[in-house]
Amino acid sequence: MTSGQPKSEKIRCDACPVLCYIAEGRTGACDRYANDGGMLVRVDPLTIVERNESRQGRVVPFLDAGREWDGDLVASEESFVTAIGAGTTYPDYKPAPFIVSREIDNVDFVTVVTEGIFSYCGVKVKVDTDRHLGPERNLVRRDGEPVGHVTTGEYGSQMLSIGGVNHLTGGSKKEGRLTCQTLLELCNCEAVELSIDEGSSVTVEAGKPPVVNGVKEERMRVGCGSATIGMFARQWHGLVDEVVVVDDHITGVVSEHQAGKVLGWPDTGIKIKGRKSTPGRYFQVAEPGSGWGGTNISDPLSILKDFDKAKAKPGLSILMVSTTGDQFAYFVLDDALIPIEKDLPERLNASVQRISENCEPAMCSVLFMAGAGGSLRAGVTENPVKLTRSVKDILTYISCGGAPVYVWPGGGITIMVDVTRMPEKSFGYVPTPAIVAPIEFTMRFKDYEALGGFVDHVLPIRDVVSANEKRQVRQQLDNPWPTAKTNFNWKNRGGSS
Ligand code: SF4
Repeated sequence: MTSGQPKSEKIRCDACPVLCYIAEGRTGACDRYANDGGMLVRVDPLTIVERNESRQGRVVPFLDAGREWDGDLVASEESFVTAIGAGTTYPDYKPAPFIVSREIDNVDFVTVVTEGIFSYCGVKVKVDTDRHLGPERNLVRRDGEPVGHVTTGEYGSQMLSIGGVNHLTGGSKKEGRLTCQTLLELCNCEAVELSIDEGSSVTVEAGKPPVVNGVKEERMRVGCGSATIGMFARQWHGLVDEVVVVDDHITGVVSEHQAGKVLGWPDTGIKIKGRKSTPGRYFQVAEPGSGWGGTNISDPLSILKDFDKAKAKPGLSILMVSTTGDQFAYFVLDDALIPIEKDLPERLNASVQRISENCEPAMCSVLFMAGAGGSLRAGVTENPVKLTRSVKDILTYISCGGAPVYVWPGGGITIMVDVTRMPEKSFGYVPTPAIVAPIEFTMRFKDYEALGGFVDHVLPIRDVVSANEKRQVRQQLDNPWPTAKTNFNWKNRGGSS
């Protein structure tokens, strides 16, 4: 600004409770809105998902903003206006930024499009690894601040719960800010390093292998130790006298296991530490860790007690293997019934390799979870509960950036979505702190009318597409198309459109 020129006015952004005053050429605190020549503009373009199966993956360019739509109905049917870049409304009772109509196969559809501001949100992270990340319920931290906790161990995976309203709003300002940053990065498929109290450090990135204590995880286990015995007992029968599959949760012993019994496997006199559950299945053979089968052991013999002298014989052979096949060892009992390690015989190579071969690649999965059953509904209808009922009745289909969501049963509209099925950079934030996520509600026009929708604000898709800066992205082929009739109960019930 030079002296003598009129001082440009700051403008107020009213798209969230922060209510930034934004100077000419600058952006607000969230970098989503800017002052462009005195006009408040959404910085990111509106994202349009295009279905392109019939075009062998080609994306046909849209008309430039400002140019007239040529009435191409095919483009209308194959284009879906997502909420990414659509903007938010605040306070909530204002109609959503875009309420888009189009006709497809003689059905008039409406999609209500808004970038929701979610304080009640988080991510559920599934980390495919046997390595011990940390005790259940312990805190997960980012740069020392608590941003979540360890939740259940699942089959070959461990679950982390990150974010949630209590970390966003219930702790210190720094905790809320780092929680928000962590959620934003995880949801936008960026790598985030987390540390777990009394546990490991883990780098999480949606769709990528986890890195635990600096080691990239290659494979998730084939199953628990008992399941591994069940799967491969027949392949070991006649090749070795005993097999122990070491696992932090359920260690399997083939001679005692039902799979071995059915095959007529003789007793070997083996004795295992830990708590016996059912025959051939042992819990708590060691402490959790980053060793064999998610235990803390590096020497498999450490889980064996002395062999039963009445049953064991010198020369008895034992294969010990982990649930991924990453670790294995072969032993033969000497005259004093002490296991002596030998090279793995050629005849057992294939079975160990088969365990590895049956392991799937380890990956991190990030599911965004949020409550859309609150004030956000007021941008869709003047009578919010009708939207909830319409969703429950499967008359309204919810998508996030065009990706399918899982709607939890019960009250409210609690959704979960796999962030890797959404377009790049779908998420934003506001410094309240809260996460900004795209959400679209698609239904028949007549159902929108019936739930008290803002029908005066409905715009044909051609008007929305031609009047806005836009980014075209391809629909992921495994994502259902949001206006597919199979998404709606009226179709499944054979109801009229
Ligand atoms: S944080 Fe972003 S959305 Fe909120 S008022 Fe500021 S610029 Fe607008």
